[in-house]
Amino acid sequence: MNRAVVIGSGAGGAMCARELQGKYQVTVLEAGREFRPFGLNLGLITKLRKTGLLFDAREIEWLFPAMRIQRTDAGMLVVSGRATGGTTTLSTGNALRFDGALKELGIDLDEEFAGLSREIPVFSGHQKTWRPLTTRFFSICREMGLDPQPMPKMGDYAHCRGCGRCVLGCPSGVKWDSRRLLDQARHKGARLLTSHPAVRVVHDQGRARGVLARHGAHGKWFPADLVVLAAGGLGTPRILQDSGIGCDDSLFVDPVLCVAAEMKDCRQDRELPMPFAAQMDGFIISPYFDLLSFFFNREWRHKAGSIYSLMIKLADESQGGISGKRIRKPLTARDRERLERAAAACAEMFQRAGVDKGRLFFGTLNAGHPGGMLPLTAAQARTFHDPRLPENLFVADASLFPASLGNPPILTILAIAKRVARICCQAG
Ligand SMILES: Cc1cc2nc3c(=O)[nH]c(=O)nc-3n(C[C@H](O)[C@H](O)[C@H](O)COP(=O)(O)OP(=O)(O)OC[C@H]3O[C@@H](n4cnc5c(N)ncnc54)[C@H](O)[C@@H]3O)c2cc1C
Ligand code: SF4
Repeated sequence: MNRAVVIGSGAGGAMCARELQGKYQVTVLEAGREFRPFGLNLGLITKLRKTGLLFDAREIEWLFPAMRIQRTDAGMLVVSGRATGGTTTLSTGNALRFDGALKELGIDLDEEFAGLSREIPVFSGHQKTWRPLTTRFFSICREMGLDPQPMPKMGDYAHCRGCGRCVLGCPSGVKWDSRRLLDQARHKGARLLTSHPAVRVVHDQGRARGVLARHGAHGKWFPADLVVLAAGGLGTPRILQDSGIGCDDSLFVDPVLCVAAEMKDCRQDRELPMPFAAQMDGFIISPYFDLLSFFFNREWRHKAGSIYSLMIKLADESQGGISGKRIRKPLTARDRERLERAAAACAEMFQRAGVDKGRLFFGTLNAGHPGGMLPLTAAQARTFHDPRLPENLFVADASLFPASLGNPPILTILAIAKRVARICCQAG
């Protein structure tokens, strides 16, 4: 059987591994280890905060190895998962389809989305579990004419305990993540190698010959008839760069900024994160207790149970790139204008909830949806293959998005990866 190497086990990688196994003998190379949810309770973190020992967000890896935080040149934090399941294990489970820009290129993923809706449970009936303040903010959004919608969630949410720890890994197995696909791939015979970061794809005469990876101090060679890169929106361009293949300087990340206030005993820290969202022009607003800011931002000095926070998630312009470990991601004038508009909308919501502007504080600017550095074009609508790539090397992650979604991307990445796998099976 022909051999395929899939790099990364997040949304794109796990889907490709599952779909390709059988037609190919699949090996998944995953840089991280087996995923384990964060074990510590927030009370202990509060004590650690007081000691002043937590000061740099990148320290999170010491406490929680599955979470990786990188800093851009401009100081924005980019969060990703580095373990089996990739960043899907850290997600808040939001299940939104956003393929408008792909449709404009002539890409119809209806069949793939239909397949996903048959296999991934999605639940929106959590409204009755919301805390009073969240219900109040939902009404405020309505009063402001923003048409907020309860967020559809991937997983068996009827059993959600509302513990608020989604981004630390669901301790109850409620939330869907791509390890479910990975398990199916392994069940069919795929091989998963953790702690095996891919270094580069070796290619000549327009064909990938295999992948050079690292395991501990050793280099390891994986010959392949097909290579699928799904190391995430930053990992994939890095591997391409190290393989002598350039990408575009069109990185987006979906910047996130939280606007918060002290609201006594509101207990947003013990509630389903992002229970609803208001879609606005260029950004969304959604209630979200920002653990990253709570852990590391000195402005977030109140008790966890007494902070209420609204998240702004921005659709940023495709501008930025990587060079080695460096990430260049400037905010453009349009991005800043959107952020200001969004912050003003949050301030109005708080005002309507009885909180003056002077009592608001901000979270740490961060992001978790990198992509866009190998954007699909109309010419690639059928092949999903960039001409810069060797003929048997494919990409199956958010690197392919033509523009930022400013919205949760997992479902759309899964649909793209399903299509890429189908194309590879037809060609192989
Ligand atoms: C806190 C947070 C919450 C989020 N919530 C949501 C949500 O609710 N809904 C939603 O749709 N999206 C959400 N997202 C975004 C979503 O999780 C990611 O966009 C998505 O998982 C990306 O899928 P991917 O396959 O491209 O990459 P990833 O899921 O990041 O997987 C990439 C994998 O590749 C591995 N890797 C990287 N480099 C290498 C290498 N050199 N060799 C081998 N392996 C490598 C990584 O370890 C990782 O396992 C969230 C993101 C964050 C940070
Ligand atoms: S709130 Fe808690 S139980 Fe519910 S999905 Fe998130 S982590 Fe799992």
